[in-house]
Amino acid sequence: MKLSRRDFLKLSGAGTGSVFLDWTLSPQAVAASESEAVFPLHKKVSEATTICPYCSCGCGLLIATGPDGHIINSEGDPENINNRGALDPKSIAVRQLSQNPLRLKKPLYRAPGAAEFEEKEWDWVITEVAKRVKASRDGTLETQNANGVTVNRTNGIAFIGGAANNDEECYLFVKLSRALGGVYIEHQARI
Ligand code: SF4
Repeated sequence: MKLSRRDFLKLSGAGTGSVFLDWTLSPQAVAASESEAVFPLHKKVSEATTICPYCSCGCGLLIATGPDGHIINSEGDPENINNRGALDPKSIAVRQLSQNPLRLKKPLYRAPGAAEFEEKEWDWVITEVAKRVKASRDGTLETQNANGVTVNRTNGIAFIGGAANNDEECYLFVKLSRALGGVYIEHQARI
C-alpha cells in the first residue's frame, strides 16, 4: 500500500485518537493562532535587555525580574549581534550581582597604617574622596612645561575606565577628567 505524507498523518491522528493539525488552517492562520497563545504565569515577571558587565565584549543579556525587583532569570540575548544568545558561565550567573548575600552594601575604609577595614557612610566617603582629589590636583597641576608652553595638566591623577561603564558614564568620566586637567586616561581593555 502506498501512502502519501498526508494520508500517513491522517491515519496517525485517527489511530491515536488525537488531532495533530487542522487541515483547514492556512500556514498564516496557524502562525497567527500561535502568536496569540496565552500562557498563565504564576508570578508577575518583567523582562529587559542589558549588557554583561564583566568584560569588554559587551554580550547581550535578557534579564527577568520578579515583583520584588530581584533577578529571577538571565540568559543570552539571541538578537544581540555580539553573542547571538551565547554566554559564559560568569555571565549566566549575573543574578549574583544583586542577590549574593556576601555583596558589600556599605563602603569600607582602611585608614593609613590600620589593619582592619571599617564601615563608613557614603557622605563621609564622597567628601573624603573630593578632598583628596582637590589636594592632588592643586599639588600637581603644571601650568607650563619646561619650554614655557602653557599646558595646564594635572600630573598627579590618572583615570581608568572599565568595561562595565556605559556611554553616559564614560562621557561624564572624561568630562570630569579633562576639567581637572587630566591627561592620563586609560581603559582596562588596553592594559
Ligand atoms: S559573557 Fe563573557 S565574553 Fe561576554 S561580555 Fe560577559 S564576560 Fe565578556
